[in-house]
Amino acid sequence: MRGYITHPNVHFDLNEQGKLDVRRAVGTEGTLSVVKDLGLRDFFTGQVPIVSGEIAEDFTQYLTVSEQVPSAVALGVLVNPDNTIKASGGFIIQVMPGATDETITLLEQKLSDTRPVSRQIDDGLSPEQILEEVLGEENVKFIDRLPVAFECNCSKERFGNAIIGLGENEIREMIEEDGGAEAQCHFCNEIYDFSKEDLEGFLKDAQSGE
Ligand SMILES: [Zn+2]
Repeated sequence: MRGYITHPNVHFDLNEQGKLDVRRAVGTEGTLSVVKDLGLRDFFTGQVPIVSGEIAEDFTQYLTVSEQVPSAVALGVLVNPDNTIKASGGFIIQVMPGATDETITLLEQKLSDTRPVSRQIDDGLSPEQILEEVLGEENVKFIDRLPVAFECNCSKERFGNAIIGLGENEIREMIEEDGGAEAQCHFCNEIYDFSKEDLEGFLKDAQSGE
């Protein structure tokens, strides 16, 4: 999953519960847009209006309304006095098709009894241990484990194709006015530099309609 923040330098006082005031930073007007690459020809996109401003609640709403899968999303961050992150993480629990009302009620109950996920992570719990604490050890069976990593599928080639897609006039302007171009990935902040020669190559591609 990748996301980006347009204005990352936001700092507010803690909210009434003594927590980071995410709602105030995110706001309660706007839309949550999700773009999914399912390996098909086109991306799957879904949008819901922001209802909460608290990210986990809005994701819950998105999954329930747009994807129609009853879901529980928990997110938490503990911040040190110097604003570095002490602990952060979360989980998503979704019910399988055909889950009984009994299961859903039990889930809701367990989730409302659970302490904040940021505390669980701060205590050093592994993802497996968090699930066992939330759902009850006897209710969990691990089917598979996948590694997570900070990585992005952007590349210079992808950005180059995007520049070609802008069309001849835009590219010519970049060559004449800036003598090159710089593109920064919204998701990982990687910067890609394109020289005048790169752009002249793109211009040829755009002209030939490639
Ligand atoms: Zn990237």
